Amino acid sequence: MSQEKFDYVIVGGGSAGLTLASRLTEDASISVCLLEAGGPDKNLLIHIPFGLSLLSRLANLGWGYDTEPQAELDNRQLYIPRGKTLGGSSSINAMCYIRGVKQDYDSWAAGGAMGWDWDSVLPYFKKSEDQERGESELHGVGGPLSVNDLRYVNPMSRVFIKAREALGLAEVDDFNGKERRGLGVYQVTQRDGQRCSTAKGYLSLAKERSNLKVITSALVEKVILEDKKAVGVKFSVNGQSQEVHCQREVLVCGGAINSPQVLMLSGIGPKEHLKEKGIDVEVDLPGVGQNLQDHLDAIIQHRTNVAAGYGLAFRAIPGYIKAGFQYLFGRKGMLSSNIAEAGGFDKTKYANGTEDIQYHFLPAILHDHGRKTVAGFGYGLHICHLYPKSRGEIRLRSSNPADIAVIDPQFLTHEEDRKVMVEAVKLGRKILNSKEFDQYNSTEMLPGKDAESDDDILAFIRKRAETIYHPIGTCKMGAEDDPTAVVNPQLQVKGVEGLRVIDASVMPTLIGGNTNAPTIMIAERAADLIKESH
Ligand SMILES: Cc1cc2nc3c(=O)[nH]c(=O)nc-3n(C[C@H](O)[C@H](O)[C@H](O)COP(=O)(O)OP(=O)(O)OC[C@H]3O[C@@H](n4cnc5c(N)ncnc54)[C@H](O)[C@@H]3O)c2cc1C
Repeated sequence: MSQEKFDYVIVGGGSAGLTLASRLTEDASISVCLLEAGGPDKNLLIHIPFGLSLLSRLANLGWGYDTEPQAELDNRQLYIPRGKTLGGSSSINAMCYIRGVKQDYDSWAAGGAMGWDWDSVLPYFKKSEDQERGESELHGVGGPLSVNDLRYVNPMSRVFIKAREALGLAEVDDFNGKERRGLGVYQVTQRDGQRCSTAKGYLSLAKERSNLKVITSALVEKVILEDKKAVGVKFSVNGQSQEVHCQREVLVCGGAINSPQVLMLSGIGPKEHLKEKGIDVEVDLPGVGQNLQDHLDAIIQHRTNVAAGYGLAFRAIPGYIKAGFQYLFGRKGMLSSNIAEAGGFDKTKYANGTEDIQYHFLPAILHDHGRKTVAGFGYGLHICHLYPKSRGEIRLRSSNPADIAVIDPQFLTHEEDRKVMVEAVKLGRKILNSKEFDQYNSTEMLPGKDAESDDDILAFIRKRAETIYHPIGTCKMGAEDDPTAVVNPQLQVKGVEGLRVIDASVMPTLIGGNTNAPTIMIAERAADLIKESH
């Protein structure tokens, strides 16, 4: 391996990494080696959308991260799932297709990420997309990422949408359209009733190309630097250390937790922290690992005796057997559902112009991210604050690449975040307490009827809130003279030649929604930037 040289080495085969690998190797003169720490995406549960309900139990598909104790969340350590397989987190995510809004990207550009304003990024969203409803001003067709309408929507999700009337909200047909305030059914990244991860959408187009080499079960330990120039990476397979070299660039696509870890292990990061961990400092970049942002999520959970939704009970078994046949013979029915079928966007009284909260409705009882089994029937409304002001960080635990990084999102440390979450729970409760849900004669398990005052609701949030899986920001993109920026608007790491970071970690601030499509957009645009300079 050490003899072989590629133009580009990509670290990580997730949402961004596989998009990039596929686009770069469209040019037969460009050679790429991609290293992925996880294995191939062979598990059927990845591909059958309903399999999502069991993915968090499969240790071999994820990194198994937990945060540090969170002071504002009763010192709890929160589980942070991240995909560790081809497709990365796009192989384990909930498939909701959301881009965010114009203001999200315009504010990136205003903050120094020149060229990433809405008008500049929209063509890349469209380029990636294969929209089942056809082409339009805002949507593209023919791209590798299939965006489909759900083939099955549980009647309980329809009830949720109907309950919008309790808040005077509209029904929204396209959350990536012009107006998104309201409730509706999400479009999903699926093709033919199966998950469309980036392994399915992008890698499948490229994997037979002779100019692409993909190595799985390869943990990248560090970027090899010579005179502040990236010349390759050191990685291990089954504990055996190896190297691969590049003539052009190393492209780090490890995601918001691992990319800053790889940079710091390579001697790129906050000087004092690297020294403390016994790592030789190559480039003092204080922003590496800082600026961690994530969407915190509160779940209002109801239980019912009515056999409805996706329950776990003897009564539900015939329905699941029928669903098995429907899926087997037509990729239709319940098993094609992503479970988080419906949701929407709304404004609390703290909203600054655009919607500041997002709903995901699950016609099921979810406990501990699906890692624990709960018998019976029920439903839950997940509500997250889209624009938190709390900022956390990723640090090294040690200089050992096999050690998990220190993940400290510092959730709710900003007072305003606490206020928005309390308001969000109040709004969500109005929906679930509306007359539409009377038919289920349900009991509110969480927060529970005794939680009435704002203080009670905040106490519930502290006790129960979890991440809804959108960490970003730890290799922030910004202007050359921004001391907190890690990469410039070309995504090049400051102070190093031939090294870029391309994934969710470069987002300067959270977008108002789920982060898979925006990450793919980033990689689409990065592929063009790289090809231009090639
Ligand atoms: C459970 C869950 C549900 C979600 N639901 C949605 C949703 O419904 N809609 C949505 O839009 N978004 C959703 N997201 C978020 C979205 O999937 C992520 O934001 C997106 O996938 C991030 O892409 P990425 O390329 O930055 O990282 P990833 O896709 O995580 O890719 C990083 C890759 O790098 C590999 N890697 C890391 N370190 C190394 C190393 N040292 N050596 C080699 N390889 C390495 C990893 O194994 C992984 O494959 C969800 C995420 C999760 C976890």
